[in-house]
Amino acid sequence: MTTPDLPLSVPLTLSCGATLKNRLVMAPMTTCAGFHDGSVTGELVEYYRQRAGDAAAIIVECCYVENNGPAFPGALGIDSDHKIAGLQKIAAAIKERGSKAVLQIYHGGRMSEPLLIGGRQPVAPSAVAMPREGMPLPRALSAEEVSDMVEKFGQAVRRAIIAGFDGVELHGANTYLIQQFFSPHANRREDEWGGSLEKRTRFPLAVLAVARKMARQYAGDGFIIGYRFSPEETEQPGIRFADTLYLLDKLASEGLDYLHFSMNNTLRSSLNDIDDPRPLIDKYMTEGTATLKSVPVVGVGGVISGEMARQALEHGYSLVAVGRAAIASPDWCQQLLTGQRLALAIDSRQREALSIPEPLWFFPQVAAMVRDMSLAGGKFSAGTFNETLQDQQGDCRLTVTLSDERLTDLSMDMPETADVEFTTHFMELRSRILEANSPYVDAVTGATTQSEAVKKAVARVMMASARQRQKQDGADDAGYDVVVVGSGGAGLTAAIQASEQGARVLIVEKMPVPGGNTLKASVGMNAAETRFQALKGIRDSKELFYEETLKGGQGKNNTVLLRAFVEQAPLAIDWLADHGIVLSDITITGGMSIDRTHRPADASAVGGYLVSGLLKNVQQQSSVEIMTETSVTEIHCQAGKVTAVTVQTAQNETLQIRTRSVIVATGGFSANPQMVVHYRPELAGFVTTNHPGATGSGITLLQALGAGTVDMGEIQIHPTVEQTTSYLISEAIRGGGAILVSQQGQRFINEMETRDKVSAKIIGLAEHAAWIIFDQQIREQNKATETYISRGFVVTADTPAALAGALEMDAAALQATVADYNRVVLKQQPDVFGRTTALRQPLDHGPYYAIRIAPGVHHTMGGITINTRAEVLDGQQQPLAGVFAAGEVVGGIHGGNRIGGNAVADIVIFGRVAGDSAADYVRRRAREEK
Ligand code: ADP
Repeated sequence: MTTPDLPLSVPLTLSCGATLKNRLVMAPMTTCAGFHDGSVTGELVEYYRQRAGDAAAIIVECCYVENNGPAFPGALGIDSDHKIAGLQKIAAAIKERGSKAVLQIYHGGRMSEPLLIGGRQPVAPSAVAMPREGMPLPRALSAEEVSDMVEKFGQAVRRAIIAGFDGVELHGANTYLIQQFFSPHANRREDEWGGSLEKRTRFPLAVLAVARKMARQYAGDGFIIGYRFSPEETEQPGIRFADTLYLLDKLASEGLDYLHFSMNNTLRSSLNDIDDPRPLIDKYMTEGTATLKSVPVVGVGGVISGEMARQALEHGYSLVAVGRAAIASPDWCQQLLTGQRLALAIDSRQREALSIPEPLWFFPQVAAMVRDMSLAGGKFSAGTFNETLQDQQGDCRLTVTLSDERLTDLSMDMPETADVEFTTHFMELRSRILEANSPYVDAVTGATTQSEAVKKAVARVMMASARQRQKQDGADDAGYDVVVVGSGGAGLTAAIQASEQGARVLIVEKMPVPGGNTLKASVGMNAAETRFQALKGIRDSKELFYEETLKGGQGKNNTVLLRAFVEQAPLAIDWLADHGIVLSDITITGGMSIDRTHRPADASAVGGYLVSGLLKNVQQQSSVEIMTETSVTEIHCQAGKVTAVTVQTAQNETLQIRTRSVIVATGGFSANPQMVVHYRPELAGFVTTNHPGATGSGITLLQALGAGTVDMGEIQIHPTVEQTTSYLISEAIRGGGAILVSQQGQRFINEMETRDKVSAKIIGLAEHAAWIIFDQQIREQNKATETYISRGFVVTADTPAALAGALEMDAAALQATVADYNRVVLKQQPDVFGRTTALRQPLDHGPYYAIRIAPGVHHTMGGITINTRAEVLDGQQQPLAGVFAAGEVVGGIHGGNRIGGNAVADIVIFGRVAGDSAADYVRRRAREEK
């Protein structure tokens, strides 16, 4: 039932003559679900069929027009006539349901992935790589090839028409080829296709012209042609909004049916002009020409309610595209038209029912919407439960009502001081939680702390009631197969692995949120001989990785564990990728001679990405439960077998939980100053980079069982820590080409030396501190720098001399230091300090940046003794049955100094081993007990 008087339901006739029945379209979204050759799979047809019907149009995900154009795995192609039959099925499915079918077409250009194009070099307007670490250098198209490329777009339009589509959308956005021709960063040509703003518009205009020609020739009236654009680029030089308005005006003058913003929020403001808070659509409406404004414009990003869609229309959009929410709810359009709010949540058990292709299910933005509904699985002890929340506005009483099967209500007695905003935020969160029937929903923007407190309280109630129910049903007697202590990278990996091997797992975490110190891991994960290295043509060997780690560890490493570590590292990289955690970008850290530090494709810090990826996997395992704000205080054994653990909950309850085995993954002890100073008195007063949970409690737990320890005095200080906040400045910045200078404006060491050596030099300086200096290029290639800037750590200036002024440093000295370093980079020869790696590019792109740093306690290399099966060893090197450990709680692997990137490798590698070994042990024990 639709409501006819809503503007959303008003039809729109386009200039080609086609009429759209309302103002809602499904946004084109990559599903990665194409067949290996880019043809259509059956599940894709069903995916589109289910989402069509009420919407005016479905814009089908982008198809590459030439076989060297795919930019991601599982991309669809429209590069040959053989693809027409499959695409026809999608068009027919959409049209049969009553929506228009529009197909987006593109070419990846310099964004094309060499692996997906048979190892060929990608093509682009000019031989300029996308300014992201690891992106391939493309080959410039010749003028003749550019004309051929236009023709290929034309052929793609012809194929779309034959396949029965009602229109095409030319993908001039998201940094793909059409945008590259318009971009002054990607297009440095000096022929007719580049050089001036006007010439850079020629390729988009030529593509539009050929599309119009094909439409006239093969489709006749009513064929829709749209154009999608990214309003700005942040690169320098790069597309600015005024340039975009210029291009769009020219496109509009040629005639097209709609223009389509590519943004993550319909009302987003400028990325470049950050002092102008106006939504770009408002600028578009005030600054765009009359010709431009005569073309309907589509807005996209974050629309989940009719109210939001109407608001978008009020700002001037003619149509509203819905993205993620349409994946979650196939009947999204009907819901919006009938005034319902779309849920950004997907029941973990509903993938097949919702026809979501598997690759799309594991896509990070989609996986983030998947909610584990196992808490709602008909297993509560029904009743009404109260929790008290402390809030700045006063104490609030939260009442949670559970039936046998569901969370049925949630209410809060508001404190008298509560303002309207507080109440509205709660009501918003309440409807999200009830709708998802789970506390694991997105926090309400602007009320994160309040939301998290409510979510946690609801989770606590649901968990306690589920436990109560299990007790009533007698199910609790079985206990768990494995209790994992700690939910950092090692604990989460171990839990996933054990549960995939059939074990019933409980993760116990003492902090309020999972993730541990792993959340702070920045640089990446080391591994040699990986598939991602092969893709980038990096020749590496496990042997070299072994040798360099041993050298970095001052030869003190446990060589048996180290051998297992390097052998399993590439397998661990694959394991992560198989679990949707793709570390495909590669950099380098101190002490390594080769790029082998794997990090997320967008060069962001590894920790948050890794933890959220692992947590998603945990949520998808119905046999893993997680208790937060609960500490394990004792491990119980009887007759040489683990029987239970004692835990202390947030409410100070002490419980015994039965289990057959434990995996201790409690991390290191850097945040326990007494313990640090006990082993290394000279570290008294040092700040630590670690989270407060890194107290070494797992070592005490295991020592009580007789476990041995090793290398306890080997404590690493990290050289580059911002001292006022103890925030770590990632080694990736030096790995990206940054230098360290003293207050005298001089370099004093090879910055790529191991952490112990760099730290020692800094401590030896008169100020016991130094400056890390980088330029705009390094900023652009390392996302972490944005955090440093936003946290106010960074001093900025346009030139090295001005920077020196701001740092109260001798300007001539800093200028000479930068110039000397740049000469070394250009020659690629070792400098006086012996730096031979990470000589990336001269520091010559202003602005310049500096952060004041000094060392801080970072990693405890020593810890519990284990063998290569992650079995905990006692003082006589004998395994303690059923007791395993992994991650920083373990000692020996890193010897006297841990190499950057080896901690993440350690937790994933030995987390997997521990999970496997525990599951194996439990199976054997169950057989014996039969
Ligand atoms: P790793 O890198 O080895 O996985 P992390 O520091 O990332 O180590 O994670 C260890 C986790 O263990 C932290 O979240 C910490 O709060 C948790 N933890 C430490 N001691 C206990 C304990 N006794 N009971 C439960 N959790 C613990």
